Amino acid sequence: MKTTAGLADLALGALRRLGVDRERIEGLADGQPPRPTLAARSPITGGELCGVRADDADAVAAAVTAASEAFGVWRETPAPVRGALVKRLGELLVEHQEDLAALVSIEAGKIHSEALGEVQEMIDICDFAVGLSRQLYGRTMPSERAGHRLQETWQPLGVVGVISAFNFPVAVWSWNTAVALVCGDPVVWKPSELTPLCALGCDALLQRAMREREAPAGLHAVVLGAREVGEALVDDARVALVSATGSTRMGREVGPRVAARFGRSLLELGGNNAVIVTPSADLEQAVSSIVFGAAGTAGQRCTSTRRLLVHASVADEVVAKVTRGFASLPAGDPFEDGVLLGPLVNEAAYEAMQAALEQARGVGGEVIGGERIDVGADGFWVRPALVRLPAQTGPMLTETFAPILYVVTYQDFDEALALHNCVPQGLSSGLFSNDVREAERYLGPSGADTGIANVNAGTSGAEIGGAFGGEKETGGGRESGSDAWRAYMRRATNTINYSAAVQLAQGVAFG
Ligand code: NAD
Repeated sequence: MKTTAGLADLALGALRRLGVDRERIEGLADGQPPRPTLAARSPITGGELCGVRADDADAVAAAVTAASEAFGVWRETPAPVRGALVKRLGELLVEHQEDLAALVSIEAGKIHSEALGEVQEMIDICDFAVGLSRQLYGRTMPSERAGHRLQETWQPLGVVGVISAFNFPVAVWSWNTAVALVCGDPVVWKPSELTPLCALGCDALLQRAMREREAPAGLHAVVLGAREVGEALVDDARVALVSATGSTRMGREVGPRVAARFGRSLLELGGNNAVIVTPSADLEQAVSSIVFGAAGTAGQRCTSTRRLLVHASVADEVVAKVTRGFASLPAGDPFEDGVLLGPLVNEAAYEAMQAALEQARGVGGEVIGGERIDVGADGFWVRPALVRLPAQTGPMLTETFAPILYVVTYQDFDEALALHNCVPQGLSSGLFSNDVREAERYLGPSGADTGIANVNAGTSGAEIGGAFGGEKETGGGRESGSDAWRAYMRRATNTINYSAAVQLAQGVAFG
């Protein structure tokens, strides 16, 4: 297992290769450490890797000023030329996939293949956005007036403020930034205070691409710090769109503040994702999807499987197999081949998990697993917990950001759907069934009420081609593929009169 000093060396090496500004990092800068500082830590050891220069409200205002100036140039730059910048970013991500993935493992504790996968997602969204840069289509509609044409055009919106969570420290930035850039918008990014090094690595690559493609300075900035830095971004009226990813608690604060100044917000918040297993399901397929969904990333994905709604006739078999799956997952150094369980992000996450398990016991839950595992490091590794509950109640109704899978049984499909939809969150869900009627009902108007609803696929591991996001307390935002780009643009309806007459709509006569 690596020590804090070993992890710091690894991180500083990656930051050097990524071209991060030496002044921002203690250990890279010559002379005095930068002040004020934010400590960069690793969940692997809990230790401090280095200090990072933090920003304050003045620095946020300066970044937004520079971004607003860049907007004047960028919105007039043809979209396919904007796409060329994103294409270059994608190339640099391919070149530095290992460096960024190492930072993701160091700061978020993800196992190496998941960290590489996260950077792959960045490369994929760059490809998507480059294509999009030639497809920002508007519609043409028939006008009711002779000699008139009616059309819709999409224009750049303005500065986009991105606030992101620790658990996808690089991908969420890229979903927003690749799309915002081709749409003509500058970006100011406030990453999680738990993952500043990942953010500096991404910014360094984009700054290099910007220099090479002669994009205006100020088009992108990263501002580091805790929630006060995010609040400064949220309250700046020059930020046209705040795209905020994180807990529902955060969204409850950010949404009304942005609305109060008539800004636009895109909220990607917590999930409480369920899998339904029916009697006709392929149980092997269901079980491996559930184990990955619940235990992958140590249960720290917004799309992690947290609830299992299983038909009573197959419940014991499914529970036995999932329990065996949880018990056999190798835990240890996220960099080591074969390890599938990395650490929780910090001690607070461990405490929250234990509190949820205690609460579950209090409402009659039978808990299997959930204990801390000693892997020879000071971080918090846990055995994923399976909790059988007599009813969907207590902690099962909230998101605990840890590997806990609550299980309840159902008798008929209507009951399963009702259980599925009666939580406040609405991000992702999966149905395992080979009954076409069940599958179609689940996808239909009275089916799953989540933004992502899968059949014979688990809740976790979305592709960038589809729009990503969820309903209810998940916030209603959509990012990434499909037509999510529209949130980053201003829509204008245009009427063009090419006749010599003045004609009013609806046949109104006026003098
Ligand atoms: P968090 O809410 O603690 O922090 C997220 C970000 O918001 C951080 O950058 C933080 O500094 C900032 N922030 C917090 N309060 C703020 C405020 N009042 N104003 C402005 N900024 C503020 O979340 P976390 O612990 O980093 O991440 C885990 C949570 O994120 C989980 O709930 C998870 O489901 C959610 N998440 C959702 C998605 C999604 O797409 N729906 C994706 C990833 C994570």
